[in-house]
Order: sequence, then structure tokens, then C-alpha cells
Amino acid sequence: MPCSTNDELNALVKEAKKVLQYGKVADYIPALQKANAEDLSAAIFYPNGRCISAGDIEQNITLQSISKVLTLALALMDCGEEKVFSKVGYEPTGDPFNSIIKLETSQSAKPLNPMINAGALAVTHLIKGESVEERLQRLLDFIRALAGDRAISYDGEVASSEYQTADLNRALCYYMRKDGIIDEDVEELLDLYTKQCAIQMDCLDLSRVGLIFAMDGRDPVREKQLIPVEVARLCKTFMVTCGMYNASGEFAIRVGIPAKSGVSGGIMGSVPNRFGIGIFGPALDEIGNSIGGMKLLELMSEQYDLSIF
Ligand code: GLU
Repeated sequence: MPCSTNDELNALVKEAKKVLQYGKVADYIPALQKANAEDLSAAIFYPNGRCISAGDIEQNITLQSISKVLTLALALMDCGEEKVFSKVGYEPTGDPFNSIIKLETSQSAKPLNPMINAGALAVTHLIKGESVEERLQRLLDFIRALAGDRAISYDGEVASSEYQTADLNRALCYYMRKDGIIDEDVEELLDLYTKQCAIQMDCLDLSRVGLIFAMDGRDPVREKQLIPVEVARLCKTFMVTCGMYNASGEFAIRVGIPAKSGVSGGIMGSVPNRFGIGIFGPALDEIGNSIGGMKLLELMSEQYDLSIF
């Protein structure tokens, strides 16, 4: 049986909080430094619409890298698998998420996978629309439908803070433009990408989006297929192989569920056919994953036998 009461989840969060002292809030995007390193909250969303939670689940968090799963789903729905994987590969890198090295040293010009920054930028490039505004609007509409929350938007302060300091992502874009992986104006792509990363929602919404992937793209509450089954499965596979940065291998062993983290300290988890998880804990470990979130998922996996392996 999974965790079934707020009290049970609260107890696990309390235990996981013991590691927060070893973490540090992200500071390379200046606006993210404002987060409180002591926070750790979590929500679980079940297919019957029931949810349980612990901590301050009403505060909004920016998705950061979690958005990469959502843009991948939309790009696959927009352009199909063949087109998307002509621009990005399938393999984990073992390098930090923002590394440029494999663009130069791999045999192919394609970034290795859609969960690292280079790959995510190549995927965002494929989102259809006449302008940045229209592409962002389409992405927002898609995410609002997944979360069942019309109020979802992006945090303008976080977006512009990242845009102004995005020189490494800028460099990745220029590198890929040289090789024809992208062919649009780099500043426009960065504008869209930084807004995408700054899309915000609370833990409850995040757990609900996690549930949609857990259920192969179907919203069991509204009884609607929101993402084609094969697209949802493909996204979940990348969550397993590359979702937790270059700690994805260890995470697969210790936790064993499809999950994606972001440098804001968010983690979206999808336990196939069981439930969705949304976690917010801005103190990060040295790899960039929420240190409390990792501990919490490990405790949950042990206690409730979550591993898919
Ligand atoms: N917006 C962040 C960046 O591109 C996302 C990184 C992350 O969450 O891993 O640097």
C-alpha cells in the first residue's frame, strides 16, 4: 500500500528534513537564491482524485528542468518522433546538465538527450507557433490542461533573471545553430526557453501532472487522454534514464521510479499506474537535485515498494 494519510507523509517529510542542512539553494540564477532552504513539501495524487500532502504545498515553484519533460511531450505531439529525434538523441551523458563538451566531442552534432540543456533547447525550438508569444501560449495551455489549473503562468522575475545570466545556454544555442540543429534567432529561443523554465505551479498541480504520465497520458479523474500513450511512455523512459541529472543511475537503484528534477528544488514523480508525486525542497545536493526530495523519495520507495524494477 502506498502512503495513505497526511500523517504518514508528514512523518516521512520530517525524517527527510534531517538532510536539508547538507544542501544549498541554487544561486546561478539570481532570483532562485530567495528560496528558503528549510522548506520541504510534498503532494501525492491518486487516480481516484484523492490527494495527500505535507508541508506548505500552496507555494508556487518554477519548473526549471521539469519543464523539459513537458516541452518534449508537446514537441512530439507537434512534430512526431522522427523530426524530434533528428534534432536530439536518446542517450544519457554523465555530464552536468549545462555542459557543452559533448556537442563538440560526440560524433553526431545532435545533443545527446532532451533532458540536458542543449537537448531541451533543441526541443523547445520545435514548439510550433508564429511567434514566441504564440509558442509560449500553446505550451501554457498544454500544461494548464495537464494540471487542470487555468491559472498557471510563468514568473517574470525568474525568467528575466535567467535570461540576463544565460550565457552558457546562449553558447549552447550558437553551437547548435552552427551545426543546423536550430535555425531560429537565438535570443528568441532563449526568451521562450527561460519563460518555459519559469512556469510555476504548486506541489499539488505538479503531483497531478506526474499522475498523467503515471497513467500513460490519461487523466483518470476527467477520463480524458491528454497525451498519446506512446508519447507519455517515451517521456517516462527519459525520466528514468536522464531525469535526475547525472545521478539518474543511482536514483534508479535507490528509488526506481520515473522522475524529473529542476534546479528550483522541484521533483515530479510518476509511479506507473499508482500515483503522481510533486515535491518542493529548494536545498540542492552537489549534483543539483533537491537533497530533501531525494531522501524523501528514497524513504517512500523503501516503505511502499515503489521501484518499477
Ligand atoms: N533554467 C535552468 C537552466 O537552463 C534549468 C536547469 C535545471 O533545472 O536543471 O539552466
